[in-house]
Amino acid sequence: DYPAIASPARTQAILNRYRLSAKKSLGQNFLTDLNILNHIVEAAQITKADNVIEIGPGIGGLTEQLAKAAHQVLGFEIDQNLLPVLEETLSPYDNITIINQDILKANLPEVIGQYFEPNRPVKVVANLPYYITTPIVMDLLSDQIDFEAIVVMMQKEVADRLNAEPSTKPYGSLSVIVQESNHVEIPFIVPRTAFIPQPKVDSAIVRLTKKTRKESVPFDQKRFVGFVRGCFMHQRKTLWNNLQGIFGKTTETKAEMKAILATLNIDPGVRPEQLTVDQFVMLGNEFHKRGI
Ligand code: SAM
Repeated sequence: DYPAIASPARTQAILNRYRLSAKKSLGQNFLTDLNILNHIVEAAQITKADNVIEIGPGIGGLTEQLAKAAHQVLGFEIDQNLLPVLEETLSPYDNITIINQDILKANLPEVIGQYFEPNRPVKVVANLPYYITTPIVMDLLSDQIDFEAIVVMMQKEVADRLNAEPSTKPYGSLSVIVQESNHVEIPFIVPRTAFIPQPKVDSAIVRLTKKTRKESVPFDQKRFVGFVRGCFMHQRKTLWNNLQGIFGKTTETKAEMKAILATLNIDPGVRPEQLTVDQFVMLGNEFHKRGI
């Protein structure tokens, strides 16, 4: 029996043997703390019924623990140099498929249909490459796939934005867009010392689960994302100013915007960060309804 891939000694040995140095440009920081890997698997409540998508298997440390707990694992790794490494480290497991592709270019619904047996829960679990955390999260949410859970590690500062309450500093368009359709939890924080090489910032595990019953639902998800981003375009300006930035400043438009805000009892002088997620949804829908 080998020690876990993620043990510091084995990780270092693998990197040495393949003459690999972690690529900063690809966000390569390998987790070398088995305890933390186990916590991640537990936070995702992985069982033998589950199919798991992993983003960036690296040298396979997390992949190994996922394969032990899950039915099947499908990993997307962009770095071609890691393929022979993964082939070797993961050879004891017959339930892992590695795809050499940029996750941002992957067609997940198609790949899921191709590789996974139907009717099993699909979960996403990953130690994300930090340089593309936000685009990956946005892509996962816009794919319209019914992921049972998304449990991903990211820099703590971004995790705080996902989880932020209105009128706090980290609250912004990302908080609103994610919270509109998901419960956000931060099961635990991961110190930078858990990685080889160590990143400059601490990390957090974020768990996203789809909200089921909601009072207000955006009329159109894509439009909603654009609307919210527009509202936060100039954080320090008022909502009124930002709305003019989105919809224009003609007398007609202004009158219509005033009417919409009045209907919803929203003061045009508030700053965007003072609005709740529900208020954004209602506001976006009201604009949509009136064809603006
Ligand atoms: N899962 C490993 C672990 O926990 O030790 C490695 C995590 S490391 C933070 C991020 C991984 O994502 C690296 O292996 C990197 O090569 C890979 N990666 C970077 N950009 C990617 C992309 N666009 N698509 C897929 N994988 C990517």
